[in-house]
Amino acid sequence: MKEIKKFETESKELLNLMINSIYSNNEIFLRELISNASDAIDKYKYLSLTSKGKVPLLDHDIHITLDKKNRTITISDNGIGMSKDDLINNLGTIARSGSKDFMNKIKEAKEKKDLDIIGQFGVGFYSAFMVASKIDVLTKTYDGQAYLFSSSGEDSYSIEEAQKDEVGTTITLYLKKSSKEVDYDKYLEEYQIKDLVRRYSDYIRYPIKMMCTTHKPKLDKDGNEIKGETEEVKEEQTLNSMVPLWKKNKKDVSEEELNKFYKDKFMDYEDPAISLFVSVDGKITYNSLLFIPSHVPYNLYSENYEKGLQLYSKGVFIKDKAPELIPDYLKFVKGLVDSPDLNLNISREILQHSPIMDKIAENVEKKVIDKLKEVLKEDKEKYVKFWKNFGEHIKFGIYSTYGGKKELLQDVLLFHSLNNNDDYITLKEYKDKMAKDQKAIYFVSGENLDAIKLLPQIERYKKLGYDVLLLDQRIDEFCIMMMHDYDKTEFKSITDDATNEISKEEQEKIDLATADNKRLLDNLKEGLKDEIDDVVISSKLVDSPLCLSTKDGLSLEMEKTLNEQPGNEEKVKAKKVLEINPDHDLFKAFTAIQDQDDLVKEYASVLYDEAMLLEGREISSKKEFVKKLNELMIKAFSNK
Ligand code: ADP
Repeated sequence: MKEIKKFETESKELLNLMINSIYSNNEIFLRELISNASDAIDKYKYLSLTSKGKVPLLDHDIHITLDKKNRTITISDNGIGMSKDDLINNLGTIARSGSKDFMNKIKEAKEKKDLDIIGQFGVGFYSAFMVASKIDVLTKTYDGQAYLFSSSGEDSYSIEEAQKDEVGTTITLYLKKSSKEVDYDKYLEEYQIKDLVRRYSDYIRYPIKMMCTTHKPKLDKDGNEIKGETEEVKEEQTLNSMVPLWKKNKKDVSEEELNKFYKDKFMDYEDPAISLFVSVDGKITYNSLLFIPSHVPYNLYSENYEKGLQLYSKGVFIKDKAPELIPDYLKFVKGLVDSPDLNLNISREILQHSPIMDKIAENVEKKVIDKLKEVLKEDKEKYVKFWKNFGEHIKFGIYSTYGGKKELLQDVLLFHSLNNNDDYITLKEYKDKMAKDQKAIYFVSGENLDAIKLLPQIERYKKLGYDVLLLDQRIDEFCIMMMHDYDKTEFKSITDDATNEISKEEQEKIDLATADNKRLLDNLKEGLKDEIDDVVISSKLVDSPLCLSTKDGLSLEMEKTLNEQPGNEEKVKAKKVLEINPDHDLFKAFTAIQDQDDLVKEYASVLYDEAMLLEGREISSKKEFVKKLNELMIKAFSNK
């Protein structure tokens, strides 16, 4: 019985775009259908190899048939096939992440008719509607009923039981009528198809076969060639070379081929930023192609993003995403691993815990980081681009392992710094340029670079000429905390109350001022007892009257980040210290009223609010602040 079903909304939108497209690059439909066929064969092969003989092994191939008279192209495979449910779930809905990508991009773009980007996406099965007005899919699983799915795009499709002997899927495209603008008939030409297969699908590991017309020398009755005479014969030819790219000799693979492979296989519309060809032969043996995208995958931060590398054993596809092959912090890395050391006869679950997988994963991680080091050394501009996209993840690698990956990762970190304007520097560069008497690697964190540069504490380091790392990402300080030191030089926050770079004489001066102004400091502290832990004479300031520092390693920035974490019910509180510049007139003004305890206590809050504002933070009692400021102005001006 024939059932008519409606496509899902999202599919309908995509179909509409495809049907109405007169996109000149519509040839990509062939690449899409061939890679679906190849995936289907991969799946069959895996099923058969793990079925303990239940599912027979087959010789696999993909056939293309051209029928000029009926204007059809048929692509058939003896892969896994589809059940009725599969047909509904896979073809009635957008399955491919590339198609979703594409739809998102189209939706983003205001001008929806701009289809120039189709070719850059893997738009999957639906792309066939760019060239076909009707598509039939005849398919059968190895032990199931055969079905015929048929659709003219629009908004529905039909499914009915059908007759098919062999396992696999046969897709017939009824080509659209050619028009002045677009020639669809060219896809009925052998040479066109040969060319397309070679261009887009050469590496497909199963033979892609087609009956081709060739000219052979004519033979006489006795089977001898007749000189100068040829005849047209039909013979089946294999159109692709079938060598998987990763099995080729590295030097025989051009960058262009790698890029094309990446875009096709991992459904990206841009070339990868960095690609890596790995071939390891030793205790473990594996080949791997690894890619770092040139942009952040649109769903990288969504919950359903799946990290992982494709896994093969001796060229047999095992699974699409093996998450255990790549650490979390490198989840943006795409690629595949093929190792003859993996045993196909064990289940995927056991495979996950195999020591060989662990070894490969360890090795892959190291290769990626080595490559990053190489790029950093040889092409800093390129590295900076990478860093802007994925630097946070590398820092997360250090943080999330509690510093366990410090040795591996510390030299691929980049930072902004006070003395380097907008450039990035490495920790090594920082250390190499440290002043002789400088004791630590200084850093300071804040909302953004401009805000950080305005912090009062920076003045002193500017004056000393010391460089300071400027941390503007949330993860930064946490990462640095986990590292503790770089090459035996400790990291120190310039907003930590214990950090100072002062001489003995300066310290003595501060101690003296502290003793002399004990009553004033105590009163300020009393006036601010709800907000702060201490009030001290500062050694950090040059021109600014005051600043805030924090105690015990929890900075204001960290306080903010931690308290913003969803589900963090118990708020953390940084221990704040109000530091006053003893050389500033403001301090002198307060010393003038130091014996008026109540007055000092009353205006202490203005000092605190000022310090908060200088740190670029919100003050909690704006009304109170304004009121007191007004009182002071009224007093000052009415005396004039
Ligand atoms: P994708 O291949 O990325 O998932 P498609 O839209 O091209 O996206 O295909 C959707 C799904 O339909 C595939 O995931 C696959 O499950 C199924 N499919 C497509 N072509 C075939 C085929 N030749 N044999 C078996 N299944 C297929």
